[in-house]
Amino acid sequence: MHVALARKWRPKVFEDLVGQEAVAKTLEHAIEAGRIAPAYLLTGPRGVGKTSTARMLARALNCEKGPTVEPCGVCASCREILARGDSLDVLEMDGASNRKIEHARELIETVRYAPQRDRFRIAIIDEVHMFTNEAFNALLKTLEEPPAHTKFILASTELHKIPATIVSRCQRFSFRALTTKEILAQLQKVAKAEKIPATPGALRLLATAAEGSLRDGLSLLDQAATLSGGAVDEARCAEILALVDRELLEGMYSAVASGDRAAAIAHLERLVESGADPKHVLKEFTAFLRRLLLVAAGGSAEIADEDRERVTVLAKAMPYENLLRAVSLALDAGDLTRRVEDAALTIQMLVLRLAELPRLRGIEEALSGLPAGRPGGPAPPPPAAPPRSGSGPRIVSLVPVEPEREDPASSAPAGPAGGDPLERFHELLGARRMVTAAQVSLAASIRVEGDDLVLRFGIDRAAAKEALEDLAAKKVLTEVARESFGRPMRIVLKTGPPADGDLGSAAREVPRATIARERASSRAESDPMVRSAMELFHGELTEIKEEE
Ligand SMILES: [Zn+2]
Repeated sequence: MHVALARKWRPKVFEDLVGQEAVAKTLEHAIEAGRIAPAYLLTGPRGVGKTSTARMLARALNCEKGPTVEPCGVCASCREILARGDSLDVLEMDGASNRKIEHARELIETVRYAPQRDRFRIAIIDEVHMFTNEAFNALLKTLEEPPAHTKFILASTELHKIPATIVSRCQRFSFRALTTKEILAQLQKVAKAEKIPATPGALRLLATAAEGSLRDGLSLLDQAATLSGGAVDEARCAEILALVDRELLEGMYSAVASGDRAAAIAHLERLVESGADPKHVLKEFTAFLRRLLLVAAGGSAEIADEDRERVTVLAKAMPYENLLRAVSLALDAGDLTRRVEDAALTIQMLVLRLAELPRLRGIEEALSGLPAGRPGGPAPPPPAAPPRSGSGPRIVSLVPVEPEREDPASSAPAGPAGGDPLERFHELLGARRMVTAAQVSLAASIRVEGDDLVLRFGIDRAAAKEALEDLAAKKVLTEVARESFGRPMRIVLKTGPPADGDLGSAAREVPRATIARERASSRAESDPMVRSAMELFHGELTEIKEEE
């Protein structure tokens, strides 16, 4: 009969506990010193040895030769616990399925009685955080005055859901998630001992997929060995794990990194066509970006040696700041898929947003009028350090590197002699300083009144008007106006409706180009990527002061 590997390789002595050396040592010392607490609380992620430890502890306490750190394994108590998990005097209960007060009370009442055969009456309660308030109260009553022969071993993945009154009465042990390396080492050991022919790459895939849980890792190995009927290789593991095709994933990333929307979407479509669940693609893509970010940040502990070179090259395809943004946007998208049905749309949006990242440039760069660093091909320049003023986070600019050339007004050659000076004003301003142009585009009307250029802003656009009152902005406006109109113009900024109250004529005077820009600007404002970028930097964009 096939015994599940996770069960067969369940640790039986403290020193077999993988990755929980601190817990094991503390428990051993306490038992050797005869310091036995009335209650123990074992917390930590799933599949890292909490239940195994609870049973080891029960054996250590109740072994005929005990309490001992080396239970004999042959006495009735030891044999029963080894075989079933519980025994005559050890009761094991799953909090998740016995939440009700009656069950908890029944168990608590039972352990209050004197043991029938062994040293202690022990209650092991798994997932104790699932208890109802009443159940916790019953438990608390017993913990307040525990009979000397009664011991509780509580285990939980969610410490914060356990009342502090309970936690404070327990001796607590925190278990940690295992690293991929630790899981991998254990899988290698088990595969060798069980004579499962597995390639190193396959084991690494399984160890990574286990996400910190040794139990999951062993279950996956079990599954892979059973399904492959012998040799466990990378292809078979990828199949079992429903892994997303790595080449397609990397291709999608490269397309995104070079700002190639069409190629990015094409890769995504191929991924989904190949049968991958969009949610799964998103998860894998997020993990992939996270790995690149770690490498870019200088940490690469979790990267396998043979992958390191490739991953390092990939990490350099995006500037570090953009990688940071990419991971953040991917995490947001992951949150979103938990709330909305359409995961396919969510990842599509993510990919398109990410493909815009290369078009963003630093605000200082934009304001200083330097030519934008062009988005690179497959191997653009390495993530350069911020060009200057290294203190504080750099701010993302909403200025596109290549302005969209959609409306005919802006695609006309700049400054045709004899053209509408107001249109030329917009052209020149756009070329000179996009930030100011965007603010001007928010004006409700722009009209020439003698030597005055009057920009009138709606009450709701007062912020734009204020921004333009800044000296540097005004200087630019004045210069651009002089150039466009061929004579000095005074820039007049006003808020509210025109004095004559004729909103109709004011509206008619709004030049076409302004309307087009207004549309472009509101498109930018409603662009989820721009918004996320602003959220990402906690709205710092609004605090940007123009320099000069
Ligand atoms: Zn024993």
